[in-house]
Amino acid sequence: MTQIPENLRKIVDSLPENVQLVAVTKTKPESDIQQAYDAGHRDFGENKIQELVNKQPNLPNDIKWHMIGHLQRNKVKYIAKFVHLIHGVDSFKTLKEINKQALKHERIINCLLQIKIASEESKFGLSMAELHELVQNEELKSLENIKIIGFMGMASFTNDQDQVKKEFQQLKRLFDSLQHCQSKNMNLETLSMGMSGDYSIAIDAGSTMIRVGSAIFGERNYK
Ligand SMILES: *Cc1c(COP(=O)(O)O)cnc(C)c1O
Repeated sequence: MTQIPENLRKIVDSLPENVQLVAVTKTKPESDIQQAYDAGHRDFGENKIQELVNKQPNLPNDIKWHMIGHLQRNKVKYIAKFVHLIHGVDSFKTLKEINKQALKHERIINCLLQIKIASEESKFGLSMAELHELVQNEELKSLENIKIIGFMGMASFTNDQDQVKKEFQQLKRLFDSLQHCQSKNMNLETLSMGMSGDYSIAIDAGSTMIRVGSAIFGERNYK
């Protein structure tokens, strides 16, 4: 036996009722996912489409798969049939592609817009200006096979807890300030922020969904 079921239970038991846990399984074997599944967990996250596509057919059908990493538009088609929630949407073009692929499968795919909150130069995420432009895009209403259900953000990679807290609070304020942006395909209810090292800070700041990998499955070996 491994520590997986125990690690999982400890975290789940500590969560406020309104906070969901996505167990992040990138680089981890299917047997680890199966163990967490057997312990009752259903929400799993991967950050690479290829890895997700490889694992999904070998695992139970009722798993809710979260795509948490950066999306390559040309690969959206491989996950459109089954993905539960896409966390890393950072352009209108990507939304359009998700909509197109979702339509093919007669589904509505839930999406989170990834917002750039880290002070460090990270490659991904919408700036405030880009976000406002996106939500005001007239064409957005015509995307009937996607639904924007919230935001996702990653704090700076730093030991400075005040910095991390400020970044999460900033995202929460943004989330609150756009609650009026309601339409058929947009309703901000999910705020995905917090990982193994900072999920407590994120929850204090108002997170409703945390994405935790190493605290459940152990450190990752990148080979
Ligand atoms: C890997 C990853 C996580 C989980 O990281 P841990 O530090 O192992 O909890 C969360 N979110 C994203 C986007 C990731 O790529």
